[in-house]
Amino acid sequence: MSNQKIRVRFAPSPTGPLHMGGVRTALFNYLFAKKQGGDFILRIEDTDQNRFVQGAEEYIAESLKWCGLHPDEGPGMGGNFGPYRQSERKHLYKKYADQLVKSGWAYIAFDTPKEIEKLRTDAEANKETFSYGIGTREKLNNSLNISEEEVQQKMAAGEPYVVRFKMPEDEDVTENDIIRGSVTFNTTKSLDDKVLFKSDGMPTYHLANVVDDHLMEITHVIRGEEWLSSMPLHVLLYRALDWEKTKPQFAHLPLILKPQGKGKLSKRDGDKMGFPVFPLEWKDPATNEVFRGYREDGYFPEAFINLLALLGWNPGTEQEFFSMEELTQLFSLDRVVKSGSRFNPEKAKWFNRHYFQQKTEEELAQLFKPVLEKKGIVAPGEKITAVVAEIKERCEFVSDLWEQGSYFFVAPTSYDEKTVKKRWKDDTPEQLAALTAVLKSVDTWKAEEIKETFSAFMNEKGWGFGAVMNPLRLCLVGGNMGPDLFKICEILGKEETIQRIETAVKNIQN
Ligand code: GLU
Repeated sequence: MSNQKIRVRFAPSPTGPLHMGGVRTALFNYLFAKKQGGDFILRIEDTDQNRFVQGAEEYIAESLKWCGLHPDEGPGMGGNFGPYRQSERKHLYKKYADQLVKSGWAYIAFDTPKEIEKLRTDAEANKETFSYGIGTREKLNNSLNISEEEVQQKMAAGEPYVVRFKMPEDEDVTENDIIRGSVTFNTTKSLDDKVLFKSDGMPTYHLANVVDDHLMEITHVIRGEEWLSSMPLHVLLYRALDWEKTKPQFAHLPLILKPQGKGKLSKRDGDKMGFPVFPLEWKDPATNEVFRGYREDGYFPEAFINLLALLGWNPGTEQEFFSMEELTQLFSLDRVVKSGSRFNPEKAKWFNRHYFQQKTEEELAQLFKPVLEKKGIVAPGEKITAVVAEIKERCEFVSDLWEQGSYFFVAPTSYDEKTVKKRWKDDTPEQLAALTAVLKSVDTWKAEEIKETFSAFMNEKGWGFGAVMNPLRLCLVGGNMGPDLFKICEILGKEETIQRIETAVKNIQN
Protein backbone atom coordinates (compact mmCIF):
# COMPACT_ATOMS: atom_id res chain seq x y z
CA MET A 1 0.00 0.00 0.00
CA SER A 2 3.02 2.28 0.39
CA ASN A 3 3.06 3.67 -3.15
CA GLN A 4 -0.64 4.04 -3.29
CA LYS A 5 -2.18 7.46 -3.46
CA ILE A 6 -3.60 8.54 -0.11
CA ARG A 7 -7.37 8.76 -0.26
CA VAL A 8 -9.48 9.71 2.73
CA ARG A 9 -13.13 10.48 3.08
CA PHE A 10 -15.35 12.55 5.29
CA ALA A 11 -18.61 10.63 5.46
CA PRO A 12 -21.28 12.48 7.38
CA SER A 13 -24.90 11.40 7.57
CA PRO A 14 -27.28 14.26 6.76
CA THR A 15 -29.22 13.80 9.97
CA GLY A 16 -28.74 17.35 11.22
CA PRO A 17 -26.16 20.13 11.28
CA LEU A 18 -22.50 19.33 11.53
CA HIS A 19 -21.20 19.63 15.06
CA MET A 20 -17.77 21.25 15.52
CA GLY A 21 -16.47 17.75 16.27
CA GLY A 22 -17.58 16.74 12.79
CA VAL A 23 -15.74 19.68 11.26
CA ARG A 24 -12.65 18.67 13.23
CA THR A 25 -12.92 15.18 11.69
CA ALA A 26 -13.18 16.74 8.23
CA LEU A 27 -10.20 18.99 8.98
CA PHE A 28 -7.94 16.17 10.13
CA ASN A 29 -8.87 14.12 7.08
CA TYR A 30 -8.17 17.10 4.85
CA LEU A 31 -4.81 17.89 6.44
CA PHE A 32 -3.73 14.28 6.42
CA ALA A 33 -4.52 13.97 2.72
CA LYS A 34 -3.13 17.34 1.64
CA LYS A 35 0.15 16.87 3.44
CA GLN A 36 0.75 13.76 1.38
CA GLY A 37 -0.67 14.98 -1.90
CA GLY A 38 -3.71 12.78 -1.44
CA ASP A 39 -7.42 13.12 -2.11
CA PHE A 40 -10.05 14.32 0.30
CA ILE A 41 -13.48 12.95 -0.53
CA LEU A 42 -16.90 13.95 0.69
CA ARG A 43 -19.37 11.09 0.85
CA ILE A 44 -22.92 11.58 2.04
CA GLU A 45 -24.12 8.57 4.02
CA ASP A 46 -27.85 8.87 3.64
CA THR A 47 -29.03 5.26 3.70
CA ASP A 48 -31.18 5.75 6.77
CA GLN A 49 -34.22 7.42 5.24
CA ASN A 50 -35.92 7.75 8.63
CA ARG A 51 -33.26 10.06 9.89
CA PHE A 52 -33.08 12.29 6.83
CA VAL A 53 -33.22 15.99 7.74
CA GLN A 54 -34.13 18.64 5.20
CA GLY A 55 -31.25 21.00 4.48
CA ALA A 56 -28.61 19.01 6.36
CA GLU A 57 -26.58 18.07 3.29
CA GLU A 58 -26.52 21.66 2.06
CA TYR A 59 -25.48 22.73 5.52
CA ILE A 60 -22.57 20.28 5.48
CA ALA A 61 -21.39 21.49 2.07
CA GLU A 62 -21.63 25.13 3.08
CA SER A 63 -19.79 24.52 6.33
CA LEU A 64 -16.89 22.86 4.55
CA LYS A 65 -16.79 25.70 2.06
CA TRP A 66 -16.74 28.35 4.79
CA CYS A 67 -13.88 26.51 6.49
CA GLY A 68 -11.89 26.24 3.27
CA LEU A 69 -12.01 22.43 3.33
CA HIS A 70 -12.63 21.85 -0.35
CA PRO A 71 -13.20 18.21 -1.29
CA ASP A 72 -11.47 16.81 -4.36
CA GLU A 73 -14.47 14.59 -5.02
CA GLY A 74 -18.02 14.65 -3.75
CA PRO A 75 -21.66 15.21 -4.68
CA GLY A 76 -21.85 17.81 -7.41
CA MET A 77 -18.06 18.03 -7.63
CA GLY A 78 -17.29 15.18 -9.92
CA GLY A 79 -14.69 12.47 -9.44
CA ASN A 80 -14.08 9.00 -10.80
CA PHE A 81 -15.67 7.09 -7.96
CA GLY A 82 -19.19 8.54 -7.88
CA PRO A 83 -21.94 8.84 -7.16
CA TYR A 84 -20.95 10.17 -3.77
CA ARG A 85 -24.38 10.07 -2.19
CA GLN A 86 -25.14 6.58 -0.89
CA SER A 87 -28.82 6.82 -1.76
CA GLU A 88 -27.70 7.10 -5.39
CA ARG A 89 -25.53 4.00 -5.02
CA LYS A 90 -28.41 1.86 -3.80
CA HIS A 91 -28.09 -0.60 -6.69
CA LEU A 92 -24.50 -1.42 -5.73
CA TYR A 93 -24.94 -2.92 -2.32
CA LYS A 94 -27.34 -5.81 -2.73
CA LYS A 95 -24.88 -7.99 -4.55
CA TYR A 96 -22.46 -7.82 -1.63
CA ALA A 97 -25.21 -8.68 0.84
CA ASP A 98 -26.10 -11.67 -1.36
CA GLN A 99 -22.47 -12.67 -1.61
CA LEU A 100 -22.13 -12.66 2.18
CA VAL A 101 -25.23 -14.83 2.56
CA LYS A 102 -23.92 -17.22 -0.07
CA SER A 103 -20.54 -17.56 1.58
CA GLY A 104 -22.10 -18.11 5.01
CA TRP A 105 -20.93 -14.83 6.52
CA ALA A 106 -24.46 -13.55 6.72
CA TYR A 107 -27.99 -14.88 6.91
CA ILE A 108 -31.53 -13.84 6.23
CA ALA A 109 -33.76 -13.00 9.17
CA PHE A 110 -37.55 -12.66 9.06
CA ASP A 111 -38.18 -11.56 12.62
CA THR A 112 -40.44 -8.54 12.57
CA PRO A 113 -39.56 -5.35 14.47
CA LYS A 114 -42.48 -6.14 16.78
CA GLU A 115 -41.13 -9.61 17.60
CA ILE A 116 -37.71 -8.19 18.31
CA GLU A 117 -39.18 -5.50 20.50
CA LYS A 118 -40.94 -8.19 22.51
CA LEU A 119 -37.70 -10.13 22.98
CA ARG A 120 -36.18 -6.93 24.21
CA THR A 121 -38.84 -6.11 26.74
CA ASP A 122 -38.99 -9.73 27.95
CA ALA A 123 -35.25 -9.66 28.54
CA GLU A 124 -35.50 -6.35 30.35
CA ALA A 125 -38.15 -7.80 32.65
CA ASN A 126 -35.51 -10.36 33.66
CA LYS A 127 -32.90 -7.64 34.03
CA GLU A 128 -31.10 -8.87 30.95
CA THR A 129 -30.41 -7.30 27.60
CA PHE A 130 -31.40 -8.98 24.42
CA SER A 131 -29.00 -9.07 21.56
CA TYR A 132 -29.51 -10.80 18.23
CA GLY A 133 -26.45 -12.96 17.78
CA ILE A 134 -24.42 -15.73 19.28
CA GLY A 135 -26.61 -17.54 21.80
CA THR A 136 -29.95 -16.29 20.46
CA ARG A 137 -29.79 -16.56 16.67
CA GLU A 138 -30.32 -20.35 16.82
CA LYS A 139 -33.80 -19.89 18.19
CA LEU A 140 -35.00 -17.11 15.95
CA ASN A 141 -36.81 -16.81 12.66
CA ASN A 142 -33.88 -16.86 10.26
CA SER A 143 -32.28 -18.85 7.48
CA LEU A 144 -29.97 -20.62 9.92
CA ASN A 145 -32.97 -22.41 11.36
CA ILE A 146 -35.35 -22.88 8.48
CA SER A 147 -34.92 -24.77 5.27
CA GLU A 148 -33.63 -23.16 2.10
CA GLU A 149 -36.97 -23.94 0.48
CA GLU A 150 -38.93 -22.20 3.16
CA VAL A 151 -36.65 -19.18 2.92
CA GLN A 152 -37.29 -19.00 -0.82
CA GLN A 153 -41.02 -19.32 -0.28
CA LYS A 154 -41.11 -16.54 2.29
CA MET A 155 -39.11 -14.28 0.07
CA ALA A 156 -41.26 -15.07 -2.95
CA ALA A 157 -44.33 -14.27 -0.86
CA GLY A 158 -42.87 -10.85 -0.18
CA GLU A 159 -42.27 -11.36 3.52
CA PRO A 160 -39.97 -8.58 4.76
CA TYR A 161 -36.50 -9.67 5.78
CA VAL A 162 -33.12 -8.30 6.71
CA VAL A 163 -29.62 -9.62 6.14
CA ARG A 164 -27.58 -10.00 9.31
CA PHE A 165 -23.87 -10.53 9.71
CA LYS A 166 -23.04 -13.86 11.31
CA MET A 167 -20.54 -12.94 13.96
CA PRO A 168 -17.95 -15.71 14.39
CA GLU A 169 -17.87 -17.18 17.87
CA ASP A 170 -15.35 -16.27 20.52
CA GLU A 171 -12.73 -14.71 18.35
CA ASP A 172 -10.42 -11.92 19.41
CA VAL A 173 -10.40 -9.42 16.56
CA THR A 174 -7.28 -7.30 16.79
CA GLU A 175 -6.65 -4.28 14.64
CA ASN A 176 -4.13 -1.49 14.71
CA ASP A 177 -5.46 1.98 15.22
CA ILE A 178 -2.97 4.69 14.20
CA ILE A 179 -3.84 6.76 17.26
CA ARG A 180 -4.62 4.07 19.81
CA GLY A 181 -2.31 1.25 18.79
CA SER A 182 -3.49 -2.32 18.87
CA VAL A 183 -7.16 -2.70 19.82
CA THR A 184 -8.84 -6.05 20.53
CA PHE A 185 -12.52 -6.92 20.68
CA ASN A 186 -13.92 -10.32 21.54
CA THR A 187 -16.73 -11.26 19.17
CA THR A 188 -18.83 -13.16 21.70
CA LYS A 189 -18.43 -10.65 24.47
CA SER A 190 -19.03 -7.45 22.62
CA LEU A 191 -20.50 -8.00 19.19
CA ASP A 192 -23.98 -8.87 17.99
CA ASP A 193 -25.21 -9.83 14.53
CA LYS A 194 -25.64 -6.41 12.99
CA VAL A 195 -28.16 -5.83 10.22
CA LEU A 196 -26.34 -5.22 6.94
CA PHE A 197 -29.23 -4.89 4.58
CA LYS A 198 -32.76 -3.82 5.32
CA SER A 199 -36.18 -4.79 4.07
CA ASP A 200 -36.51 -1.44 2.29
CA GLY A 201 -33.73 -2.49 -0.07
CA MET A 202 -31.19 -0.21 1.53
CA PRO A 203 -27.92 -1.22 3.13
CA THR A 204 -27.21 -0.15 6.69
CA TYR A 205 -24.33 2.12 7.60
CA HIS A 206 -21.95 -0.79 8.21
CA LEU A 207 -22.31 -2.47 4.84
CA ALA A 208 -22.51 0.71 2.78
CA ASN A 209 -19.56 2.24 4.60
CA VAL A 210 -17.26 -0.74 4.03
CA VAL A 211 -18.37 -1.34 0.44
CA ASP A 212 -17.88 2.32 -0.44
CA ASP A 213 -14.53 2.62 1.31
CA HIS A 214 -13.43 -0.34 -0.75
CA LEU A 215 -14.88 0.81 -4.07
CA MET A 216 -13.63 4.36 -3.57
CA GLU A 217 -10.15 3.01 -2.78
CA ILE A 218 -10.00 4.70 0.59
CA THR A 219 -6.62 4.15 2.24
CA HIS A 220 -7.26 5.66 5.68
CA VAL A 221 -10.44 5.82 7.70
CA ILE A 222 -10.13 8.78 10.05
CA ARG A 223 -13.25 9.30 12.15
CA GLY A 224 -14.57 10.04 15.61
CA GLU A 225 -14.05 7.80 18.60
CA GLU A 226 -17.73 6.88 18.65
CA TRP A 227 -17.04 4.61 15.67
CA LEU A 228 -14.26 2.63 17.35
CA SER A 229 -16.70 -0.06 18.47
CA SER A 230 -17.70 -0.58 14.82
CA MET A 231 -14.13 -1.25 13.76
CA PRO A 232 -14.09 -5.02 14.51
CA LEU A 233 -17.26 -5.56 12.46
CA HIS A 234 -15.76 -3.55 9.62
CA VAL A 235 -12.52 -5.51 9.84
CA LEU A 236 -14.49 -8.75 9.67
CA LEU A 237 -16.47 -7.47 6.70
CA TYR A 238 -13.22 -6.84 4.83
CA ARG A 239 -12.26 -10.41 5.59
CA ALA A 240 -15.68 -11.77 4.63
CA LEU A 241 -15.68 -9.91 1.32
CA ASP A 242 -12.13 -11.01 0.62
CA TRP A 243 -10.83 -7.44 0.59
CA GLU A 244 -8.34 -7.77 3.39
CA LYS A 245 -5.38 -6.93 1.16
CA THR A 246 -6.68 -3.45 0.47
CA LYS A 247 -8.29 -2.84 3.83
CA PRO A 248 -7.77 0.80 4.91
CA GLN A 249 -5.93 1.79 8.05
CA PHE A 250 -7.99 3.16 10.90
CA ALA A 251 -7.56 6.19 13.12
CA HIS A 252 -10.19 7.12 15.71
CA LEU A 253 -10.01 10.73 16.86
CA PRO A 254 -10.47 11.70 20.51
CA LEU A 255 -13.65 13.25 21.82
CA ILE A 256 -14.08 16.98 22.27
CA LEU A 257 -15.07 17.50 25.89
CA LYS A 258 -17.21 20.10 27.61
CA PRO A 259 -15.45 23.20 28.99
CA GLN A 260 -15.70 21.70 32.48
CA GLY A 261 -13.72 18.75 31.17
CA LYS A 262 -16.23 15.97 31.84
CA GLY A 263 -18.40 14.48 29.12
CA LYS A 264 -18.67 14.98 25.41
CA LEU A 265 -19.40 18.50 24.14
CA SER A 266 -23.05 18.43 23.13
CA LYS A 267 -25.22 20.74 21.09
CA ARG A 268 -27.00 21.92 24.22
CA ASP A 269 -23.78 23.02 25.95
CA GLY A 270 -23.41 26.00 23.67
CA ASP A 271 -26.83 27.37 24.58
CA LYS A 272 -26.25 26.81 28.24
CA MET A 273 -22.82 28.37 28.33
CA GLY A 274 -23.08 30.96 25.60
CA PHE A 275 -20.86 29.75 22.77
CA PRO A 276 -21.53 28.11 19.40
CA VAL A 277 -20.99 24.39 18.82
CA PHE A 278 -21.96 24.53 15.15
CA PRO A 279 -19.92 26.10 12.36
CA LEU A 280 -22.93 27.92 10.89
CA GLU A 281 -26.23 28.92 12.33
CA TRP A 282 -28.77 26.11 12.09
CA LYS A 283 -32.50 26.36 12.15
CA ASP A 284 -34.05 23.02 13.02
CA PRO A 285 -36.71 22.51 10.32
CA ALA A 286 -38.88 20.43 12.66
CA THR A 287 -38.93 22.73 15.68
CA ASN A 288 -37.77 26.04 14.18
CA GLU A 289 -35.25 26.19 17.01
CA VAL A 290 -32.18 28.21 16.05
CA PHE A 291 -28.69 27.15 17.07
CA ARG A 292 -25.97 29.75 16.86
CA GLY A 293 -22.99 29.31 14.56
CA TYR A 294 -19.35 30.40 14.64
CA ARG A 295 -19.82 32.27 11.38
CA GLU A 296 -22.84 34.26 12.57
CA ASP A 297 -21.17 34.89 15.93
CA GLY A 298 -18.46 36.71 14.00
CA TYR A 299 -15.63 34.19 14.10
CA PHE A 300 -13.22 34.15 11.19
CA PRO A 301 -12.87 30.76 9.55
CA GLU A 302 -9.09 30.99 10.16
CA ALA A 303 -9.72 31.26 13.89
CA PHE A 304 -12.21 28.41 13.86
CA ILE A 305 -9.79 26.15 11.97
CA ASN A 306 -6.92 27.10 14.25
CA LEU A 307 -8.84 26.28 17.40
CA LEU A 308 -10.17 23.01 15.98
CA ALA A 309 -6.70 21.90 14.92
CA LEU A 310 -5.50 22.09 18.49
CA LEU A 311 -8.38 20.02 19.83
CA GLY A 312 -6.65 16.67 19.85
CA TRP A 313 -3.52 17.52 17.85
CA ASN A 314 -0.44 19.36 19.04
CA PRO A 315 2.59 20.47 17.05
CA GLY A 316 5.06 19.44 19.74
CA THR A 317 6.22 23.05 20.04
CA GLU A 318 4.95 26.17 21.78
CA GLN A 319 3.45 27.56 18.59
CA GLU A 320 -0.27 28.27 18.83
CA PHE A 321 -1.19 30.14 15.67
CA PHE A 322 -1.36 28.16 12.47
CA SER A 323 -2.60 29.00 9.03
CA MET A 324 -4.15 26.25 6.94
CA GLU A 325 -0.92 26.09 4.90
CA GLU A 326 1.19 25.61 8.01
CA LEU A 327 -1.18 22.98 9.34
CA THR A 328 -0.99 21.17 6.04
CA GLN A 329 2.78 21.04 6.32
CA LEU A 330 2.93 20.10 9.98
CA PHE A 331 -0.01 17.81 10.59
CA SER A 332 0.53 14.19 11.41
CA LEU A 333 -1.62 11.58 13.08
CA ASP A 334 1.33 10.68 15.34
CA ARG A 335 0.69 13.87 17.23
CA VAL A 336 -3.01 13.22 17.75
CA VAL A 337 -3.71 12.14 21.30
CA LYS A 338 -6.04 9.41 22.55
CA SER A 339 -7.56 11.28 25.44
CA GLY A 340 -10.41 13.75 25.01
CA SER A 341 -9.65 17.46 24.57
CA ARG A 342 -11.41 20.04 26.62
CA PHE A 343 -12.96 22.86 24.64
CA ASN A 344 -12.23 26.31 26.04
CA PRO A 345 -14.64 29.00 24.75
CA GLU A 346 -12.44 31.81 26.09
CA LYS A 347 -9.53 30.50 24.10
CA ALA A 348 -11.77 30.45 21.04
CA LYS A 349 -12.30 34.20 21.43
CA TRP A 350 -8.61 34.69 21.97
CA PHE A 351 -7.91 33.03 18.62
CA ASN A 352 -10.43 35.28 16.96
CA ARG A 353 -8.79 38.32 18.49
CA HIS A 354 -5.52 37.28 16.93
CA TYR A 355 -6.95 36.92 13.43
CA PHE A 356 -8.94 40.10 13.87
CA GLN A 357 -5.78 42.04 14.72
CA GLN A 358 -4.02 40.51 11.71
CA LYS A 359 -6.47 42.06 9.28
CA THR A 360 -5.67 45.39 7.72
CA GLU A 361 -7.81 48.41 8.52
CA GLU A 362 -9.18 48.34 4.97
CA GLU A 363 -10.18 44.69 5.29
CA LEU A 364 -11.94 45.33 8.58
CA ALA A 365 -13.65 48.41 7.15
CA GLN A 366 -15.01 46.22 4.35
CA LEU A 367 -16.45 43.89 6.97
CA PHE A 368 -17.78 46.71 9.09
CA LYS A 369 -19.55 48.43 6.21
CA PRO A 370 -22.46 45.97 5.91
CA VAL A 371 -22.94 46.07 9.69
CA LEU A 372 -23.39 49.82 9.40
CA GLU A 373 -25.62 49.55 6.37
CA LYS A 374 -27.90 47.18 8.26
CA LYS A 375 -28.38 49.97 10.75
CA GLY A 376 -29.18 52.38 7.97
CA ILE A 377 -25.81 54.10 8.10
CA VAL A 378 -24.01 54.91 4.89
CA ALA A 379 -20.57 56.39 5.48
CA PRO A 380 -17.61 57.04 3.17
CA GLY A 381 -15.04 54.26 3.06
CA GLU A 382 -12.25 56.55 4.34
CA LYS A 383 -14.24 57.41 7.40
CA ILE A 384 -14.96 53.76 8.23
CA THR A 385 -11.28 52.92 7.77
CA ALA A 386 -10.26 55.84 9.99
CA VAL A 387 -12.67 54.69 12.72
CA VAL A 388 -11.38 51.12 12.49
CA ALA A 389 -7.81 52.38 12.88
CA GLU A 390 -8.73 54.09 16.14
CA ILE A 391 -10.68 51.29 17.80
CA LYS A 392 -9.32 48.10 16.28
CA GLU A 393 -7.17 47.30 19.26
CA ARG A 394 -10.11 47.14 21.59
CA CYS A 395 -11.96 44.56 19.48
CA GLU A 396 -11.93 40.84 18.84
CA PHE A 397 -15.01 40.56 16.61
CA VAL A 398 -16.38 42.68 13.78
CA SER A 399 -19.48 43.26 15.92
CA ASP A 400 -17.25 44.85 18.58
CA LEU A 401 -16.49 47.61 16.10
CA TRP A 402 -20.03 48.84 16.45
CA GLU A 403 -19.98 48.53 20.23
CA GLN A 404 -16.73 50.44 20.41
CA GLY A 405 -17.37 52.98 17.70
CA SER A 406 -21.07 53.58 17.14
CA TYR A 407 -20.75 57.22 18.28
CA PHE A 408 -18.59 57.98 15.25
CA PHE A 409 -21.70 57.45 13.16
CA VAL A 410 -24.56 58.41 15.44
CA ALA A 411 -24.50 61.44 17.74
CA PRO A 412 -25.20 60.64 21.38
CA THR A 413 -28.78 61.17 22.46
CA SER A 414 -28.10 60.53 26.12
CA TYR A 415 -25.11 61.14 28.34
CA ASP A 416 -23.67 58.79 30.92
CA GLU A 417 -25.03 60.00 34.23
CA LYS A 418 -22.07 59.07 36.34
CA THR A 419 -19.71 60.94 34.06
CA VAL A 420 -21.98 63.96 33.98
CA LYS A 421 -22.06 64.03 37.77
CA LYS A 422 -18.35 63.74 38.02
CA ARG A 423 -17.19 65.95 35.13
CA TRP A 424 -19.87 68.51 34.42
CA LYS A 425 -19.25 71.61 36.55
CA ASP A 426 -21.04 74.94 36.78
CA ASP A 427 -18.55 76.68 34.53
CA THR A 428 -18.41 73.86 31.97
CA PRO A 429 -20.98 75.39 29.56
CA GLU A 430 -19.14 78.66 29.52
CA GLN A 431 -15.80 77.00 28.95
CA LEU A 432 -17.20 74.88 26.13
CA ALA A 433 -18.76 77.90 24.49
CA ALA A 434 -15.41 79.68 24.51
CA LEU A 435 -13.73 76.57 23.16
CA THR A 436 -16.27 76.25 20.38
CA ALA A 437 -15.51 79.74 19.21
CA VAL A 438 -11.83 78.90 19.02
CA LEU A 439 -12.41 75.58 17.28
CA LYS A 440 -14.34 77.36 14.58
CA SER A 441 -11.14 79.18 13.68
CA VAL A 442 -9.12 76.00 13.06
CA ASP A 443 -8.23 75.89 9.37
CA THR A 444 -6.82 72.45 8.89
CA TRP A 445 -9.13 70.04 10.71
CA LYS A 446 -6.53 67.48 11.67
CA ALA A 447 -5.93 66.00 15.13
CA GLU A 448 -2.53 67.67 15.42
CA GLU A 449 -3.81 71.14 14.54
CA ILE A 450 -6.88 70.81 16.73
CA LYS A 451 -4.68 69.75 19.62
CA GLU A 452 -2.33 72.69 19.11
CA THR A 453 -5.15 75.20 19.02
CA PHE A 454 -6.74 73.57 22.04
CA SER A 455 -3.51 73.61 24.06
CA ALA A 456 -2.72 77.23 23.21
CA PHE A 457 -6.22 78.25 24.19
CA MET A 458 -6.06 76.33 27.50
CA ASN A 459 -2.72 77.83 28.38
CA GLU A 460 -3.98 81.27 27.61
CA LYS A 461 -7.01 80.75 29.84
CA GLY A 462 -5.04 78.91 32.48
CA TRP A 463 -7.72 76.19 32.72
CA GLY A 464 -6.91 72.60 33.67
CA PHE A 465 -6.83 70.38 30.57
CA GLY A 466 -8.92 67.68 32.21
CA ALA A 467 -11.61 70.15 33.24
CA VAL A 468 -12.39 70.82 29.59
CA MET A 469 -11.32 67.61 27.87
CA ASN A 470 -13.55 65.33 29.92
CA PRO A 471 -16.75 67.30 29.29
CA LEU A 472 -15.73 67.62 25.64
CA ARG A 473 -15.47 63.86 25.39
CA LEU A 474 -18.83 63.51 27.06
CA CYS A 475 -20.36 65.80 24.43
CA LEU A 476 -18.85 63.90 21.53
CA VAL A 477 -19.27 60.28 22.59
CA GLY A 478 -21.87 60.38 25.37
CA GLY A 479 -19.56 58.92 28.02
CA ASN A 480 -15.97 58.68 29.07
CA MET A 481 -14.85 56.02 26.60
CA GLY A 482 -13.06 56.11 23.31
CA PRO A 483 -9.64 56.73 21.79
CA ASP A 484 -7.70 59.98 21.45
CA LEU A 485 -10.09 62.92 21.74
CA PHE A 486 -8.53 64.96 18.93
CA LYS A 487 -8.69 61.99 16.59
CA ILE A 488 -12.37 61.71 17.40
CA CYS A 489 -12.78 65.42 16.52
CA GLU A 490 -10.91 64.91 13.28
CA ILE A 491 -13.00 61.93 12.20
CA LEU A 492 -16.29 63.59 13.15
CA GLY A 493 -15.37 66.71 11.19
CA LYS A 494 -15.51 70.29 12.28
CA GLU A 495 -19.20 70.90 11.79
CA GLU A 496 -20.31 67.73 13.53
CA THR A 497 -17.91 68.33 16.44
CA ILE A 498 -19.25 71.81 17.07
CA GLN A 499 -22.81 70.67 16.59
CA ARG A 500 -22.36 67.92 19.17
CA ILE A 501 -20.89 70.30 21.72
CA GLU A 502 -23.77 72.70 21.31
CA THR A 503 -26.41 69.97 21.52
CA ALA A 504 -24.82 68.46 24.61
CA VAL A 505 -24.58 71.76 26.40
CA LYS A 506 -28.27 72.33 25.77
CA ASN A 507 -29.31 68.81 26.79
CA ILE A 508 -27.13 68.39 29.83
CA GLN A 509 -28.03 71.78 31.22
CA ASN A 510 -31.69 70.77 31.14
N1 GLU B 1 -21.80 8.20 8.48
C1 GLU B 1 -20.95 8.14 9.64
C2 GLU B 1 -21.12 9.44 10.40
O1 GLU B 1 -22.15 10.01 10.35
C3 GLU B 1 -19.53 7.92 9.18
C4 GLU B 1 -18.63 7.27 10.15
C5 GLU B 1 -17.36 6.87 9.44
O2 GLU B 1 -16.61 7.78 9.11
O3 GLU B 1 -17.19 5.71 9.17
O4 GLU B 1 -20.24 9.92 11.08
